[in-house]
Amino acid sequence: MPELPEVEVVRRGLLDHVVGKRFATAKVLHPRTARRQPGGGAELEARLAGAHVDGIGRRGKYLWLDTSAGALLVHLGMSGQMLIKSGSPEAHKHLRAWAVMDSGDELWFVDQRTFGYWHMGELVDGVPELVTHVAPDLLEPAFSITDTVRRIRAKRSGIKRVLLDQTVVSGIGNIYADEMLWQAQIHGETPASALAESEVSDLLEAGQDVMRRALEQGGTSFDSLYVNVNGQSGYFSRSLNAYGQQGRPCLRCGTLIVREQFANRGSHFCPECQRL
Ligand SMILES: [Zn+2]
Repeated sequence: MPELPEVEVVRRGLLDHVVGKRFATAKVLHPRTARRQPGGGAELEARLAGAHVDGIGRRGKYLWLDTSAGALLVHLGMSGQMLIKSGSPEAHKHLRAWAVMDSGDELWFVDQRTFGYWHMGELVDGVPELVTHVAPDLLEPAFSITDTVRRIRAKRSGIKRVLLDQTVVSGIGNIYADEMLWQAQIHGETPASALAESEVSDLLEAGQDVMRRALEQGGTSFDSLYVNVNGQSGYFSRSLNAYGQQGRPCLRCGTLIVREQFANRGSHFCPECQRL
């Protein structure tokens, strides 16, 4: 799954190409892309045609275009890509939706696994109606460390599980959870309620730091599907300290990083620096 930095890279890449522009036409090519839309693809196409783009918002992994016809929510799912192109839209077999802007730029939504979707709706308190249950993310202006520390410490489950709960704080997936826990020297199974206020706020600040550094490097390309609007991958994967580093020495203490089963995935941590 793309996480916050990967989605923010896409948002920034789209800014120059769509903000201040108008949709000339839009076409939805796969029904799953419009599955959340009452009225389906035809409704999306009708509302987008002629819509002026005023800005692009993001919360966690959700991205939306503020338009004169409503908010176009874009969820990338497992494999979605938003690409700026010019040329024949028939050229890509996983092209699920495409639009032509009045500038001539084409906006392609390529999504191999079709878990992504587009939804045209209204903003509620500044976020699309389908996103109102999602808590602010670590990098947005509405994020409050104090409120988030309180929400986290009210939970009894392991801190890693709490970090992944999008109703507590959004945009953190497996990779950045492992990285921020390593940086803050906290074991992921530590009950959230057992952490001191200062430990949780240090952890959240570590998360902000990790995400800002990932952004500077264009995100993490954990596979070839995560790309910016020009189809290029980021290179933060070279800077990972815990995720995927099992068997390699911890950069702080030299102990070998271990991987343990976590849900259907893995947790990567230093058994010396991150004691339970
Ligand atoms: Zn260590």
